[in-house]
Amino acid sequence: MSRLDEIFASNVFNDSVMQQRLPKDTYRRLKKTIDEGKQLDLQIANVVAHAMKEWAIDKGVTHYTHWFQPLTGITAEKHDAFITPTGNGQMIQSFSGTELVRGEPDASSFPSGGLRSTFEARGYTAWDPTSYAFIKDGVLCIPTAFCSYGGEALDQKTPLLRSMEALSTQAVRVLKLFGRDATRVLPTVGPEQEYFLIDRALYEQRKDLIFTGRTLFGAKPPKGQELDDHYFGTIRPRVQDFMRELNEELWKLGIYAKTEHNECAPGQHEMAPVFTVSNISCDHNQLTMEYMKRVAERHGLVCLLAEKPFAGVNGSGKHNNWSMVTNTGYNLLNPGNSPYDSAQFLLFLVAVIRAVDCYQDLLRISVSSAGNDHRLGANEAPPAIISIFLGDELTEILSSLETGEAYKGHGVQELAVGVHVLPHFPRDNTDRNRTSPFAFTGNKFEFRSLGSSASISECNVMINTAVAESLRLYADELEKAEDFQTSLHDLIVREIKAHKRIIFNGNGYAGSWVEEARSRGLLNLSSTPDALPHLLDEKNLELFRQHGIFTETEVRSRYEIALETYNKAILIEAETMLAMAKREILPAVLHFTGEVARTAAAVKQYSPALNTIPEEKLLLSLTEHTQALSDAIEHLENILQDQGKSDDFLTRARYLHDVILPAMNRIRQISDELETMVDKKDWPFPTYAELLFTV
Ligand code: ADP
Ligand code: MG
Repeated sequence: MSRLDEIFASNVFNDSVMQQRLPKDTYRRLKKTIDEGKQLDLQIANVVAHAMKEWAIDKGVTHYTHWFQPLTGITAEKHDAFITPTGNGQMIQSFSGTELVRGEPDASSFPSGGLRSTFEARGYTAWDPTSYAFIKDGVLCIPTAFCSYGGEALDQKTPLLRSMEALSTQAVRVLKLFGRDATRVLPTVGPEQEYFLIDRALYEQRKDLIFTGRTLFGAKPPKGQELDDHYFGTIRPRVQDFMRELNEELWKLGIYAKTEHNECAPGQHEMAPVFTVSNISCDHNQLTMEYMKRVAERHGLVCLLAEKPFAGVNGSGKHNNWSMVTNTGYNLLNPGNSPYDSAQFLLFLVAVIRAVDCYQDLLRISVSSAGNDHRLGANEAPPAIISIFLGDELTEILSSLETGEAYKGHGVQELAVGVHVLPHFPRDNTDRNRTSPFAFTGNKFEFRSLGSSASISECNVMINTAVAESLRLYADELEKAEDFQTSLHDLIVREIKAHKRIIFNGNGYAGSWVEEARSRGLLNLSSTPDALPHLLDEKNLELFRQHGIFTETEVRSRYEIALETYNKAILIEAETMLAMAKREILPAVLHFTGEVARTAAAVKQYSPALNTIPEEKLLLSLTEHTQALSDAIEHLENILQDQGKSDDFLTRARYLHDVILPAMNRIRQISDELETMVDKKDWPFPTYAELLFTV
């Protein structure tokens, strides 16, 4: 392997390459554009494009692409060679500023939720100069946002950039009140990515994995994760080879791949990068997922990113560690060590608390999908109820502020905001409440509900925007205040009182929490069809409008796309299940039943005095199960016919959730019982034991 410092970011047109390759003046102007988030002037773009092309050609690149993130959840690219004919049968290699900043993919097949009818199919892509261009497989990739001609966002990135801008604007207003000179605030994100690795040859024998990314059948193996012997266990050589190559690929792209370890379930692993600014983190996470799949293939493996690939063992999530940093390098969720810092910290803290309380529904929606529904609330991931974990110490501080009583901890006698230094919060690893969806972990919040395959964009749009709204209201109020200290104190106390219901430090898996949360008036949106309609609630439309994140048309299009995606996912699963049950499982069971019957008959024929009770018992059970399976298949086929009758996406989603999913569970349950009875040789595809324990 090459030296890390030699390969790191070797495929990225980053700041140091720009500094080397751009004329001083162009570099300075580009940098200013990036730092201030301004529009790029075409003259500069031409110079940058030329330098980028020369740099790429030196590295053997022949094509470029506008790399974007449509609402399919994955990334899209269309390659163009650097070719311009010169009229004499020759060509020159060219790449103009216009080509750099703007592209027009024929994008009629990307989901738009009715925003762009196909006769005016052309959307356009626009370079996001805050995210560096990079080389992937010999292609120069320009990270872009993707919009319709009317300017409506058709991708994951546009709203993310808008929400970052909104957060920055409001946070800077608040910081000004504290006399800070920051001119920009950037949300930072470190997404921890979980995944499974399984053997490719086994994968190829399972239609459910191929078509849906998760197993639709499979009896529990004799050993699952009960011994906890996989978590942080020694990494096996084949997996280690995979991780080494993955790291190398990611490092070349300037991705800070940092931590790797085995996770809870057998076959499950995690990669955590060092955090960075959220739009870049989002790009990097998309690349990480893409490379996990690709590199796995080179090792005869398959990387499963589905949220719940296997029943009975933990599924995979993506912890979204989130904070805000000023352009002067200060983390706003750092409790700080002066009285003034503490007051500022508390204000930003209550801003987050208010955001999570008022927009629980949006946070829940941002992590909803058919796949993640299997995880949330299944005692392995946070419950579907959104709440905040602050830890005992911080909670006590807030309650002593609220009641005006003296805070007894850590030698602090009395606590008035801005008067005393807050006690130092050590990053407490013993007090990590793993069941909380939104946990304060020392100097950042960790949103743990996100599914492993999702883009991190949507949940960050929601967090950024909801926090921007708190800060907007606070700035409005405090800018008018006559006595800043007193108003600040009163505001913080009032906000604690108003939103403390969202703080819960207890066990989120306990049944009693569901009751308790209900009595606190918290939402419990247990499935995607339950959650999604809230996207259109007036308060949410108003939030998006207020901060220029989405127009109502854009929200409605996203709502439709999300429902349609959910519906398609479940229909594909149902069809796959039927195909496997009818054409693989039933024939295998019938074949084995015949074998047993023939054996029994042969024994009896040999001597009627011999006992065939075991064969008969098995035959009875097999035929009963076969009957039940055949009925369950017929039932699913019948009810699937009905699902087409409603044109309304939500009605269909509810039907799929309430009627189709239970029917699918029934087929699975019978089939999994049959798996434990049928001869191993006859079972038509690899079992959980093979899938989970062979890598
Ligand atoms: P774990 O949760 O597994 O104990 P850590 O807490 O060390 O792991 O880090 C989890 C992630 O949080 C890492 O990606 C790390 O870079 C990220 N992180 C740390 N500080 C911040 C911050 N200020 N903003 C966003 N993410 C952060
Ligand atoms: Mg974590």
